Amino acid sequence: MKIDWLIVGAGFTGCILAEQIASRLDQNVLIVEKRDHIGGNAYDCYDENGVLAHQYGPHLFHTNSKKVWDYLSTFTEWLFYQHHVLAVIDGKKVPVPFNLNSLHMLFPIGYANKMEMKLIDRYGLGKKVPILEMIEDSDEEIQQLADFVYKKVFLGYTLKQWGIDPKNLDSSVTARVPIHISRDDRYFQDKYQAVPKSGYTAMFKNIIKNPNIKILLKTDYKELKDRFSAAKMVYTGPIDEFFDYKYGELPYRSLNFKSIHHSNTDYYQETSQINYPNDYDFTRITEYKHITQQKTAGTTIMVEEACPYLRGMNDPYYPIPNKEHTELYRKYHAEADKIKNRVLFIGRLAEYRYYNMDQVVARALQTFERQIINK
Ligand SMILES: Cc1cc2nc3c(=O)[nH]c(=O)nc-3n(C[C@H](O)[C@H](O)[C@H](O)COP(=O)(O)OP(=O)(O)OC[C@H]3O[C@@H](n4cnc5c(N)ncnc54)[C@H](O)[C@@H]3O)c2cc1C
Repeated sequence: MKIDWLIVGAGFTGCILAEQIASRLDQNVLIVEKRDHIGGNAYDCYDENGVLAHQYGPHLFHTNSKKVWDYLSTFTEWLFYQHHVLAVIDGKKVPVPFNLNSLHMLFPIGYANKMEMKLIDRYGLGKKVPILEMIEDSDEEIQQLADFVYKKVFLGYTLKQWGIDPKNLDSSVTARVPIHISRDDRYFQDKYQAVPKSGYTAMFKNIIKNPNIKILLKTDYKELKDRFSAAKMVYTGPIDEFFDYKYGELPYRSLNFKSIHHSNTDYYQETSQINYPNDYDFTRITEYKHITQQKTAGTTIMVEEACPYLRGMNDPYYPIPNKEHTELYRKYHAEADKIKNRVLFIGRLAEYRYYNMDQVVARALQTFERQIINK
């Protein structure tokens, strides 16, 4: 078979571009994926106890983009699901992002009412205020409350998650942790929130169903690159690896996942995700049955602990954005630019950027329109 396109990586980016090329251009695509499964980090499967689990941490789909929602809806039915997260603060489980309900659960009624009015007056109902912004508020009482949230909710979690002081992290990361001036307890406020009804992997199988698409699992592009060439290529792996780390390694944060099955209870905790900002070494515990709404006896939880990324030893999960790392990425990006007519670098590893799933879907669809079909 003649291969028109080689795609490295079978995550959202690789699979969606394969689907677009195969169905809209009627060209042949070979996907190579080094893991033994499709779906990238969104992969899910049934564990040995029959519980559907997300192998690489909980994946909750949420978007405001009708285009992205409609596109994925051609490959899956949905299970409507709105994510609620609790965090253990001073022994109490309160909703996060920290909001007006959390305020009332942690403080005496008089103080909570007063601060609620102040916050609404100052920022407006419904506003999401980054904690590092609120901590600099000129009002002393707001500052004190922000300081409490910073220390009890934000600091411990961020230190565990990133292994560095939040002040050394890019604001794009810290802005992800707001105080929500609202009674809305949901973790996301997007218009569309759901998980694929039969799971992510089943959705990915449908995305790459076109007979023009072939896939080779357990195949690292590195082993193939000198023996195989395609006219065009999409690369969704780490950009520094593609260029043999010639400028040095791009730093990432990695994760350890520990699955535990409890056969003597149907549910382990009251909601799908509980964060532990101050206790233990792990960051959060996820219970999948709350997300998938699966009815089984027993339940599986996943305990997640962040750790340094060590090439060859574990997986790169979160790019660590700061000025120095962005500079390093730019050097690789400049190299990629020189071969852009032959190789497209796209996706979270190739662009060294944290993307939510909906962003990565939008990016893949947009890349197809702008850089493939209209070129
Ligand atoms: C713990 C965690 C939780 C998340 N939760 C959410 C969430 O709740 N909601 C949300 O919207 N987003 C979430 N995300 C983000 C989501 O996972 C990403 O947006 C999405 O997976 C990115 O897709 P991608 O195709 O760019 O990358 P990936 O999914 O990483 O796919 C890249 C693929 O390329 C393969 N590959 C790499 N190098 C090579 C090589 N040399 N040869 C062959 N194959 C290679 C990799 O094995 C991988 O399968 C989460 C991410 C993490 C890490």
